Amino acid sequence: MQMSLLTHLLGPRSAFDGGLYLPDRKAGLARRPIQTLHPEGPLHVPLTVRRDLTTEPVVRKGDRVVLGQALSRATNDQAVGVHAPCAGEILSLERVWTVEDGFLPGAVLVPDGSSDKVPQHQGWDDESIIVQLAECGVVCDMPRAPLHVVMRDAIAAGVTDLIVNAMETEPYLTADLRTLVEYPGRMIDATCELADALGVSRAILAVPFRHRRVVRRLQSEAAGRYVEIVALSNPYPQCHPVMLVKAILDREVAPGASILSEDAVVLPLATVRRASDAILSDLPTTHALMTVAGDAVEHAGTYRVPVGTPLARLAKRVGMLAPAAQAVYGGPLTGSAFGYEDAVVTHDSKALLLFGRADVSRPVPCVRCGWCIEDCPVGIDPPALMRLETEATCSEPKRIALRACIECGLCSHVCPSRLPLSETIIRNRIRFAGTESAPEGGTRH
Ligand code: SF4
Ligand code: SF4
Repeated sequence: MQMSLLTHLLGPRSAFDGGLYLPDRKAGLARRPIQTLHPEGPLHVPLTVRRDLTTEPVVRKGDRVVLGQALSRATNDQAVGVHAPCAGEILSLERVWTVEDGFLPGAVLVPDGSSDKVPQHQGWDDESIIVQLAECGVVCDMPRAPLHVVMRDAIAAGVTDLIVNAMETEPYLTADLRTLVEYPGRMIDATCELADALGVSRAILAVPFRHRRVVRRLQSEAAGRYVEIVALSNPYPQCHPVMLVKAILDREVAPGASILSEDAVVLPLATVRRASDAILSDLPTTHALMTVAGDAVEHAGTYRVPVGTPLARLAKRVGMLAPAAQAVYGGPLTGSAFGYEDAVVTHDSKALLLFGRADVSRPVPCVRCGWCIEDCPVGIDPPALMRLETEATCSEPKRIALRACIECGLCSHVCPSRLPLSETIIRNRIRFAGTESAPEGGTRH
């Protein structure tokens, strides 16, 4: 059948109503190869990957450590330990500040410039992959949890489908695309290993249709393997697991339910990349792969950054064209604006966006344009949910709608009155729906 011009340009029709094709702001940025930033100056390494996951330090002030050496160990089977991002000396054990978790216990590590590292070992079977993921401290971005815990839950739920999510539909973000361009075979290998360990009958790698060359390369790498490459159109937020399960498997995730309830598990490509280091190379997670971009950045690109690098130092290392009036940690729609001076890079940091001008427009009353309702990918009425803020009770249909919100941020993005719709909906969900997070813990693609 002849492909229409629109389909040729945008890809197959999206599987959901609403959503928006956003200007991607990746031109140029996405063509630059991944660069590794070697540590310069003390690293402030968090000793746990999430505030509620407890670990205990296994180093003391004055210890010398090498790259990949354990700095902390898990105190229960839900947590993971953390590893040194370089060789050096432990200056002190003290709290470090992170954007997502606030203060965490940490270690200040002063690099000594040597390339000493822990020796690698190889050779585990499928059953021990999950142990290997735990020992290497691999974390999943969404749901935000250690990967071995996500894998164990998926196996216990008897999932039949694994979807690796490389959609990356938010503007600026380039880490997934660069990973696919530079390591396509490795991503297919790691997907096969994870699919084997999960015991699924189908493994799918979802990529944006418009990266045609990447799609062709992946298809050739996957030939004869059981990973299927599925190219999708990418209106925002096609990258959300709920949208992917609908588009690829034609299954509807109930409002607030886990993806596992639909016999599927969705792993972000960033998670698979970390897993590939652990499974294929016996390397613990010690660096984050981050997009550093925005109009205040001189050398925007995709960087491999040691965990514990202060974000302010990262900004200096990539060069600043102007002082940043606004800093965003994460994607422009789902990230958080923050004062970046004190925060550090963590295991799952994905972007630092720095802009010369801050968005200072003030909210004004709703003009009833309906754009937020039209674009909401799960078909709910954002202003009605926002108004709950001033109400004492909430009807059952509104409770369900609060749970259905996937925190994509699109309603706030399109609102001409600059109303903080998604932020208020998230607050109202905590107040009325009895759940803190959207399906799969919000949108972190
Ligand atoms: S944040 Fe929630 S309400 Fe707003 S567009 Fe996204 S899903 Fe809809
Ligand atoms: S987009 Fe903003 S102004 Fe338009 S209907 Fe929604 S809340 Fe009102």
